Amino acid sequence: MTGRLFLQIPGPTNLPEPVQRAMDMALINHRGADFIALTKKLLPRLKQVFKSKEGTPIIFPSSGSGAWESSLVNTLSPGDAVLAFSIGQFSGDWAKAARAHGYKVDLVELPWGGGVPEDVAYEKLAADKSKSYKAVLTIHNETSTGVTTHVKSLRAALDRARHPALLLVDTVSGLASADLRFDEWGIDVAVTGSQKGLLLPPGLGILCVSQKALKAMETAKSPRYYFDWAPMIERNRQGIFPYTPVTQMLYGMDVALDMLLEEGMDNIFQRHYRLAEGVRRAVKAWGMETVAKSPDVASNVLTAVFLPQGYDADALIALTEAKLNLALGAGLGPLAGRAFRIGHLGWLNELEVLATLGGVELGMKMLKVPFPLGAGVKAAQEWLLESQPA
Ligand code: PLP
Repeated sequence: MTGRLFLQIPGPTNLPEPVQRAMDMALINHRGADFIALTKKLLPRLKQVFKSKEGTPIIFPSSGSGAWESSLVNTLSPGDAVLAFSIGQFSGDWAKAARAHGYKVDLVELPWGGGVPEDVAYEKLAADKSKSYKAVLTIHNETSTGVTTHVKSLRAALDRARHPALLLVDTVSGLASADLRFDEWGIDVAVTGSQKGLLLPPGLGILCVSQKALKAMETAKSPRYYFDWAPMIERNRQGIFPYTPVTQMLYGMDVALDMLLEEGMDNIFQRHYRLAEGVRRAVKAWGMETVAKSPDVASNVLTAVFLPQGYDADALIALTEAKLNLALGAGLGPLAGRAFRIGHLGWLNELEVLATLGGVELGMKMLKVPFPLGAGVKAAQEWLLESQPA
């Protein structure tokens, strides 16, 4: 097929060309002077993406799931109680990872399409009189539903209940796309992967760790080796890693961080909001519903859209990929076949969003889904005009 693939899944995202070029290099000595200089330059800038001065950034060769595991085994001991909220596929899976490690997970099942309300969290925490929960797990951006949870309000719930549990936040699809403030929101461990807002290929599991979490590490008894923070932090101080790092990707990260910090985190969040709002207006103009149930939780990273009853979302995804070179995200779990997901994150601009919406419209017409052709693209164009940056 001619033309480029429109990779509009909610990550991995389109790789910026400068990042690609930075990774296209000969291998180097991962304990040599050049690499040491690179590591020492990377880590302080990585912290800025988390909006943290206090935190310690950690990079593992893995994916987001490895970072999940790392956040747990470094802060908890077998049998510890944790509080978790299931609002979609990924929040449920993180809780499963915790159970697999033998922690006692108190999982609060909430409806898909909503976030974690502060009061629900507060009630659970206030009821825990013996302060048995050692950690609270929450997903910043639930990629299966297109919902953002207000992490700040979970911090408020913990503070209101005077609960000392650590706040562990999965921001695998949120970081560098949706507003996240590690220090200000009192996050203890933020967990992410390289393949979404960080503008890199899959292959790195990344964390930012608070002083309080580092203190917890000193007494946490869970067995760990590969994902152990202590040797990582010690070697990173010397500019190296305890085992062979993904050198190419770290050169890519150097350029990706330049791009992100040059744009500025707040500008990145604003750009994501503006593009996301264009997509939401398109969905409304099609006469369809988003999986996110209310505007206050609608994600600026991706939008999950219900097709009208009787139409198969998986067929739409297969068709746009085969005929239009447009990759959309599938509905996960109970949303399979009912919803599709449009990723609007990472290195993205207005024209890419409009082309994506145009492609979705073509695909839906080919499937004979009833909606006014062009209405979504028009609504998005009108919004983009109305919201032009000064
Ligand atoms: N958490 C969230 C919110 C995700 O979106 C994903 C993957 O998309 C994961 C965790 C798992 O990350 P990975 O696939 O990088 O292991």
